[in-house]
Amino acid sequence: MNVMTQVHPFLDGKTKRMLIGGKWLEAASGKTFETRNPATGEILAHVAEGDAEDIDRAVAAAREAFNGPWSKFKPAQRQALLLKLADLVEENIEEFAALDTLDMGAPISRTRGNKARAVGMLRFYAGMATALHGETINNSLPGEIVSFTLKEPVGVVGAIIPWNGPLTAAIWKIGPALATGCTVVLKPAEEAPLTPLRLGELCLEAGVPPGVVNVVPGFGETAGAALASHPDVDKVAFTGSHVTGQSIIRASAGNLKRVSLELGGKSPDIVFADADLSQAVPGSGMAVFANSGQICSAGTRLFVEKKIYDEFVSRVADFSKTLRVGNGADPETQVGPLVSQEQMTRVSSYLNIGRQEGARPLSGGERLTDGDMAKGFFVPPTVFADVRDDMRIAQEEIFGPVISAIPFTDVEEVIERGNKTQFGLGSGVWTRDVGKAHKLARAIRAGSVWINCYQAMDPAVPFGGYKMSGYGRESGVQHLEEYLNVKAVWIKTD
Ligand code: ADP
Ligand code: MG
Repeated sequence: MNVMTQVHPFLDGKTKRMLIGGKWLEAASGKTFETRNPATGEILAHVAEGDAEDIDRAVAAAREAFNGPWSKFKPAQRQALLLKLADLVEENIEEFAALDTLDMGAPISRTRGNKARAVGMLRFYAGMATALHGETINNSLPGEIVSFTLKEPVGVVGAIIPWNGPLTAAIWKIGPALATGCTVVLKPAEEAPLTPLRLGELCLEAGVPPGVVNVVPGFGETAGAALASHPDVDKVAFTGSHVTGQSIIRASAGNLKRVSLELGGKSPDIVFADADLSQAVPGSGMAVFANSGQICSAGTRLFVEKKIYDEFVSRVADFSKTLRVGNGADPETQVGPLVSQEQMTRVSSYLNIGRQEGARPLSGGERLTDGDMAKGFFVPPTVFADVRDDMRIAQEEIFGPVISAIPFTDVEEVIERGNKTQFGLGSGVWTRDVGKAHKLARAIRAGSVWINCYQAMDPAVPFGGYKMSGYGRESGVQHLEEYLNVKAVWIKTD
């Protein structure tokens, strides 16, 4: 397959259907929507547009599967399915990487680089499938009475994912569901539905029984909302914006379904004068420019100690100018387009807001429209200097390649100012001082603290938010707990 010319085996010109109960179906309404390549504006495929009726069908299929033979699957059988799926994803990783790149724009070097993560996640969940267990607990009641716990799958899970990493996002929902014995209705983002649909095909190929994994593409306000409010869904696992997260919680109230939320961020990335600056410059740059800033934990508030502020910020700006912006399908590209016209408009408006607020762009700052770039949604890496804490570009999530660089003078001060945000997802600290590193690790109110690195991720290490970045954890042992109920059992034996 040739990514540059969009020759891809999955893009065969046929309408992409939805996966319900093991079958590929048209939308009940017969409607379809287009998905486009954000680098070129070209239509990649027409996709069945699911709405409430399709969600109903998919939830019914997921319920039937949950009550049916799937409930008899032993942990080792679920493990075998996950291992098989991991092998299939690994064998097809080139195709997945190309599909992610075509559908949402990320550089092919990045989507290829997701291989270890995607496959590693599936193998981690496979391992966990046979490691889940309840406990025997000593009680203090008189007489002979034994108490122990059972861990049971929560049931039908509605999974709603964003477009910024379609393959890994889909695996992050399907993996724990298969490991714990849940069934899933997955609603991909309307901007990037292709990879999750292809993953659905591999689930069937791996032998996942019909109805255990369902994939219903469609829009948030229709298909997504129907899933979040559905009375027969036991849990919603959501990744996306905090505003949508709030509406998911409201929609979940009808049947008090469980909710886990991985939302946005405005993460502080703190550089001390004693840091190894040769690492901190590209490290703090890529903490934002990776995936064109379309990562919820991007380190967008760059706090720099005053005595190195001017030098450091101009070095980051110089670094940002070396990054190659272009079509993600080109192996040389380091920064791809934004996912959509809508996102480009949004990010561009923040570039204007930053200037109006008095921040000074040292690099980037304007949409790129040279030659073919005009057809896509390209915004270059941008570094704003002279940013103050109260500016909108220092408080609101931009979701683009935009750094807001802010000076600070001492440790206590930067802790307080770093924490002054409604969010709490990621954070970075660059220092050679072990004492400072430990102090900040404890003081920062965020789900991840990266010290002398940024955005390190592993299937075994929990990831998630504090404050308005949401609740619940993905990856790690904690992730499985989100998909399990605890039941206490008492047996009187005398
Ligand atoms: P982003 O701004 O990054 O697109 P969103 O929160 O809008 O983030 O989208 C993330 C996912 O949530 C997508 O799959 C989208 O379709 C879905 N979504 C959007 N609005 C709603 C809603 N009201 N209810 C349920 N899902 C929604
Ligand atoms: Mg959206």
